[in-house]
Order: sequence, then structure tokens, then C-alpha cells
Amino acid sequence: MVTEFSCFLLQRMVHMVLMDMVEVGNCGGAAPDGVEPPGFSARGASTERGTIFKALSGFYYVESGEGVVECRARGRFRLEGMSPLVGDRVEFSTAERGKGVLTQVLERKNSFVRPPIANIDIMVVVASAAIPVTEPYLIDRLTAIAVKNNCEPVICINKLDLDPADRLYDIYSAAGFSTVRTSAATGEGMDELQDMMRGAVCAFTGNSGVGKSSILNAIEPGFRISVGDISKKLGRGRHTTRHVELYRLTCGAVVADTPGFSAFDPDRLASKDALQGLFPDFGQYLGGCRFLDCAHQKEPGCKVLEAVRAGKLQKTRWESYARLYEQALEYKEWESGARKRK
Ligand code: GDP
Ligand code: ZN
Repeated sequence: MVTEFSCFLLQRMVHMVLMDMVEVGNCGGAAPDGVEPPGFSARGASTERGTIFKALSGFYYVESGEGVVECRARGRFRLEGMSPLVGDRVEFSTAERGKGVLTQVLERKNSFVRPPIANIDIMVVVASAAIPVTEPYLIDRLTAIAVKNNCEPVICINKLDLDPADRLYDIYSAAGFSTVRTSAATGEGMDELQDMMRGAVCAFTGNSGVGKSSILNAIEPGFRISVGDISKKLGRGRHTTRHVELYRLTCGAVVADTPGFSAFDPDRLASKDALQGLFPDFGQYLGGCRFLDCAHQKEPGCKVLEAVRAGKLQKTRWESYARLYEQALEYKEWESGARKRK
């Protein structure tokens, strides 16, 4: 079903321009005057730019000004231990219409291992106050991952028809995040959510069963991402699919379908000193503490703790910070380890 629909979308993408198409001439030697005719030529290949929307069985499907081009990666990528990812902006050369070879991956804004994807602008953190109930800690961990990776977090509290989720809504709006309440069942809040997503590459994350697939289906009828009950999704079948793909929605947003991944999973979130920077709502209080290296745990003269006591900072936000701080202490070696793995 999804495959049929991907074909449909791939066809639709043919006339859509995601990235500027660049003609940079013939790779095999420039003409004497340095000017190459644009497009295809019998003798040489042209180089263009686009974005990988899908990766499957060694092929990369790149959306460019010319439509969708099926590319193979140059062997060089494997030698360098570099894998192109869905979401990557790439350069590719084409010698034959519709077929190409990836020659370069352009600089990434961010990239993730689980799910394997790059260049996410907005991370939509979906939560719910009704079956299942989302703990603020999970949301806080995901927003921290988003901030760390230069993504804008959007908090989407779904199942509004079952529970108005006032507490979650208040916590995240007070913390300064773009926060929206939705119901995939009634359609409430969908316009507001789409306004927040417009023009961006978005990925949905959040605990299983909160309604990520249902929201996408409500935004784009016909999207037909598999919606299942929670028990089915926790079963084995669901997790055999690890195929990530980007889709362009009618509203102009591009969304990642990341089946089998309920949350973005970094190896280590942050060092203990960097963690505070992943809580944007703490920002105005940082630097005011009595001790320069204040960890905002129980130090005297701590401005963060004062703000929590005064109700200016949400208590659950600080509790999540403290929990993540404990974890960061356990992973002192994380930085050197992460570097080695790269
Ligand atoms: P995902 O695991 O986050 O993708 O969640 P699903 O989209 O598969 O939804 C899990 C279950 O919650 C399904 O049975 C949906 O029908 C139901 N569901 C999703 N959104 C809503 C909603 O807004 N209201 C209600 N009442 N049920 C919803
Ligand atoms: Zn402090």
C-alpha cells in the first residue's frame, strides 16, 4: 500500500522543485571556452543537485528540478565509510535520463543514526494525555535531542477529544515551545499544526500509540501510513520495516515516514556542561548563579532553582534536566567514544 502510494508521490514530485538545479558542466573535461551546454549531451554527463527522498536496495531516489532520478552511489562513499542518507542534499551526475550517480553529499544541518536520516528542520514531538499518557520526561528528552541537532521542536499534544491535556499544554507553552493541541479523530488543531510545518522538512517522534501515523493520515488523506493498535505495533512485524522515506505533503511540508522508530535516539545526549544549553527556557537564568560552574542541582545562589521555586520555570522541566544530568555524569567518556566511532 505504502509502495503504491510512494510511486504515486514520486510521479507527483516530477514537476516539483525542492532544490535548485545546478548545471556545472561536463565532469570529463570542459569545453575550450569553459562553457558547457546545459542538460544532457551524447558525450558527457551533467551534474545536478537534489535531495534524497528514498533509499532502497542500494539505490537512492533523488528529487531534483528534473524530477526523480534513480542514483547509485560512487564507490568512493563506501571507501570513505560515508553513507548517503535520506534527507541529504546531494550532487549527482546523469548520463542517461532518469538515472544517475551520486558524486557528493553536501554539508548536513544534522544527521541521525536511528532513524537514519539527515537535514530535519522540525521535530514534531507528539504526546498524549490519554492512552497512552506521555511523561514530560520523554518530551523533554526529545526536545533536548532536537535542540542539540539544530531542529526546531514543535510539541503536538494529540487525542484532544479524549483529554484536553491542560497540564502538558501549560508546561510547554510556558517553556516557550511552539505547542499545539490536536485530535486526529476530529481533525481539530490540524490547520494550526500544518501552519507550523509549512516549508520545512519534518519528522514525527513520540511514544508509540500517541497518534503519529493518525495525524499524518488526517493531514493528508490518502497518505495511508499504517495505523495500528498499540499491541500490534509492539509486536515483531512492525519493527521489521526500517525503511525511511520523505513525502511531500500538499501543505508544502516534507515529512519523514520513519516506521519502527518511535523516538530519535542519540548515542549520548550531552556532556554535563552542555546539557543546560539544551533547555532553552533555562537560558535567561544561566550565568546568574553564584558559582560559575553551577550544575543547578542544589547549589546555594542558583538562579535556575530560584526560578523553579518562584514558579517561573516548570518543575517537571527541571526534574528532567536533573535526571539527564545524572545520566551525563555516568557517561564522562561519551565524547571521546563518540569521536572514535565516527
Ligand atoms: P502512533 O504509534 O503514534 O503512530 O499511533 P497511531 O496513529 O497508530 O494511533 C494509535 C491509536 O490511537 C490508534 O488506534 C488510533 O486510532 C488512535 N488515535 C490516534 N489519534 C487519536 C485521536 O486524536 N483521538 C482518538 N480518540 N484516538 C486516536
Ligand atoms: Zn545554578
